[in-house]
Amino acid sequence: MQRIVVKVGTSTLTTEDGHLDIEKIKKIVLELSNLQDKGYDVILVTSGAVGAGMGLLNISEKPKTLAEKQMLSAVGQVSLMQIYQTLFKEHNKIIGQLLLTKEEFSNRKRYLNMRNVCNAFLKRKIIPIINENDAIVSNALKIKVGDNDTMSALVSGLIDADLLIILSDIDGLYNKNPRKYEDANLIHMVGDINEDIKQMAGAEGSKFGTGGMITKIIAAEMVTKIGTSLVIASGDDPKNITRIVEKENIGTLFV
Ligand code: ADP
Repeated sequence: MQRIVVKVGTSTLTTEDGHLDIEKIKKIVLELSNLQDKGYDVILVTSGAVGAGMGLLNISEKPKTLAEKQMLSAVGQVSLMQIYQTLFKEHNKIIGQLLLTKEEFSNRKRYLNMRNVCNAFLKRKIIPIINENDAIVSNALKIKVGDNDTMSALVSGLIDADLLIILSDIDGLYNKNPRKYEDANLIHMVGDINEDIKQMAGAEGSKFGTGGMITKIIAAEMVTKIGTSLVIASGDDPKNITRIVEKENIGTLFV
């Protein structure tokens, strides 16, 4: 039995204007359902709640205040889950929502409790869909993980995953930011996450994402230390999920 955590970022789940890309979500759901049918334990860490909220309220500009962003994430989380529930149901899959904070990983009792809950999900073949509880956390409260790349790494540790797949709007880690440098080259495998690798990742992300490449590298550092591999790949074609599980050479593999 293999446990696979898949993290999909805002840039994968939303269209140019920041609204949810339902066709893309359908394809992701199909891939995850197929993997579960093949016997894998599947866990999804998903962003996209703010995008969903913007869609519902017909807002096309990024929220300006923290409170508005938190409100949008609460509105959007419900509709995001409704979409996942409807789509997974078409494949006879049951999902459950887990909205986590940093506390689940820093407080031993809460950590053990969460681990039991996750294992209860997996035992019954229920797909956990995880996101940060953005409506209630803020930096000021110091209970925020901050981005779903880090969240997915923490979840991978929590459930002892074999593989973490981070889908992004880019097909992996390049030796420099490919949005800026045309001659940037894709790195296929990283065995040692040193300062050079971190330098390559820089600090910038896309318009709607919160992490950027650096949070993915930090996630890679976290999971490889505990023996979980990580692949960063493009979410443009969700079939990449199955390709990665079947060990095709796609994206950047961190071991
Ligand atoms: P997501 O929303 O999927 O988490 P982000 O937009 O936060 O994705 O992060 C991916 C982005 O990071 C890329 O689209 C690219 O603009 C940027 N980036 C910066 N440096 C690099 C690099 N060395 N290799 C790949 N992408 C990079």
